[in-house]
Amino acid sequence: MKKTNVTAERGIDQYRRIAGDRVIDEIHHYADRLQGEHIVMINSTPAGGGVAEILNNLVLLINELGVELGWRILKGSDTFFQITKEFHNAFQGADITLTKQKKEIYEQVNRNNAMMTHLDGHDMVIVHDPQPLPLISYYKKRIPWVWRFHPDMTHPNPKLLEYLKPYIELYDAMIISSKKYHQASLDIPQIEFAPSIDPLSAKNVPMTKTEAHRLLRRQGLRLNKPIIAQVSRFDTWKDPVGVIKAFLTVREQYNCQLVLMGNLASDDPEGPIIYQQVLKAARNNKDIHILLNSPDNDRTVNALQRSAAVILQKSLREGFALTVSEALWKETPVIGTRAGGIPLQVIDGKKGLLVRGIPQTAESSLKLIKNRNP
Ligand code: UDP
Repeated sequence: MKKTNVTAERGIDQYRRIAGDRVIDEIHHYADRLQGEHIVMINSTPAGGGVAEILNNLVLLINELGVELGWRILKGSDTFFQITKEFHNAFQGADITLTKQKKEIYEQVNRNNAMMTHLDGHDMVIVHDPQPLPLISYYKKRIPWVWRFHPDMTHPNPKLLEYLKPYIELYDAMIISSKKYHQASLDIPQIEFAPSIDPLSAKNVPMTKTEAHRLLRRQGLRLNKPIIAQVSRFDTWKDPVGVIKAFLTVREQYNCQLVLMGNLASDDPEGPIIYQQVLKAARNNKDIHILLNSPDNDRTVNALQRSAAVILQKSLREGFALTVSEALWKETPVIGTRAGGIPLQVIDGKKGLLVRGIPQTAESSLKLIKNRNP
């Protein structure tokens, strides 16, 4: 029985016309089985990046179904988040120096969070990503704990995996976004599960062309030439500087503009540094527009993903790429690399194009922009 008196903003049944009766009935069936269960999700940021995007939509919807699903945020210092960003990078293949001090800070923050995160009365805990991973080690484990890992784990750094393995193996299961991320060295069930977007959220709901153009003009954009866009956190793995290089090649041959729309996540301290690199690479080029932390973020993302002639996702590593799902949902052509979850979504030549490197990104962008419907 649902405890709160909060009125549902979007009843799950509104999704029937999109997902169909069978899917919604199945969701009700599972929700009925979970009535009375008290579940909690724990991650490390309320906004910015795909995890926060998923949780902001999903947690409310699951509560609307009568399942008591809570959401807690791990609290950490700047140093802690610098260390966990290094972990994130190392999971995606970067090198790392694992000092005693880094491990101590990582473990201490998790110990402190465990002290102030009371989980009595809960029936299940779902922990997202490496930041809160060790939390589990500070509780007497009586209920199922699941670790949901979102980034790209095709080439994890072996030193980091070795250090975190004892924490990971305390969990009952691990959820990954692609079977490519399966780790033979981990003794834990690894379940593949695709992330989701919310078709009725402000970011994805239908929008008229007039409204989309009005929102983009408010960002200072002029709509007098076709737009190539990438919407992503300012992160090296999203290769925004590579996007600029590819665009400059396209621009030599076609009169178009580039929009790089990005935000910063509180658990990603590298964002401001990458943003500065992007500004430098753009060199005040009047056809390159960089939107940082746009006000009215969700509707602006919606407008941009609908109005662009091409959406790029030039990631070097990628967990799943909700940005690709969002653009494909709007039927905007996508050019993406073969990183992580992108080839699970972009069917080369049918729903967009898969590319490798800057020259091919430029060549494919030019092809799509020339052949676009006006
Ligand atoms: N996003 C946003 N505003 C921005 C840039 C990105 O709302 O300026 C959103 C984007 O629409 C998507 C999410 O952030 O929903 C990024 O998720 P994705 O899985 O693509 O990448 P992640 O950041 O998790 O690596």
